[in-house]
Amino acid sequence: MNAHLILFVIVALAVWLGFLYLAPFGRCGKCKGTGHISSGRRQVKVCPRCKGRRRIQRRGSRTVHRLAYRIRGRAANRRQIHPEGQ
Ligand SMILES: [Zn+2]
Repeated sequence: MNAHLILFVIVALAVWLGFLYLAPFGRCGKCKGTGHISSGRRQVKVCPRCKGRRRIQRRGSRTVHRLAYRIRGRAANRRQIHPEGQ
């Protein structure tokens, strides 16, 4: 039972990381993608979370991209040292 749970966590994590990599930006949840928050009756404030941009960068997406960049860079280096198919 525990092994299944661990497997599930790993799969879920992989899916989440892939999702972050493909879609690093998401609709701001605080203002529901409008960029503004209506506080009170007439006042409309710029959303403090996305600052009116309506989209926010998902937490961890920067790390995922940095990691992917590092892995890609390493693969490119390896190809340069050992040219294959040429
Ligand atoms: Zn917002």
